Amino acid sequence: MIRPILLYGSPILRKEAQLVDVNDPTLPQLIQDLWDTMYNAEGVGLAAPQIGVSLQVFVVDAAPLQPPDEPPFKGIFINPQIIGSSPTCVPHEEGCLSIPGLREKIYRPDSIEVFYYDENGQPVQARFAGIVARIIQHEYDHLLGRLFIDYLSPIKKQLIRARLREIQQGLIEVQYPTL
Ligand code: ZN
Repeated sequence: MIRPILLYGSPILRKEAQLVDVNDPTLPQLIQDLWDTMYNAEGVGLAAPQIGVSLQVFVVDAAPLQPPDEPPFKGIFINPQIIGSSPTCVPHEEGCLSIPGLREKIYRPDSIEVFYYDENGQPVQARFAGIVARIIQHEYDHLLGRLFIDYLSPIKKQLIRARLREIQQGLIEVQYPTL
């Protein structure tokens, strides 16, 4: 089911999400809703708090942004923890379905090690690099109540203030249901 995406200004986006019981019978539906909502909005990742559910789960389908020589990555991350990251940070332009119309260059570690549970409740530990690592870090931040704009310099934050206010007031035209 496609659900409305919470926009910047919504308090849930700033809350730390709660751990998920991997045996929770409502979990498969939540995951399906995340996929439906993400694909409808043409996103490459979506975290549960973005559809108003303050639980530690997000989905990623990086295929549209991956280089053609990379195997397409699609995954479900439940109760994830980033347990390691490369010392090298690289810049990349990021956007967010909760902050429509805004894209900014953000520096993040180039590769990360993640521990999480998959949709079958199985623990997984894996290393990710490049654009996949980028998307995972962005979505992981949502579970901690962080947004990519938090990484901007004070000057840059000042420059986007008016735009953020417009988003908050619902003045930005968006091609998917929002709340
Ligand atoms: Zn986002």
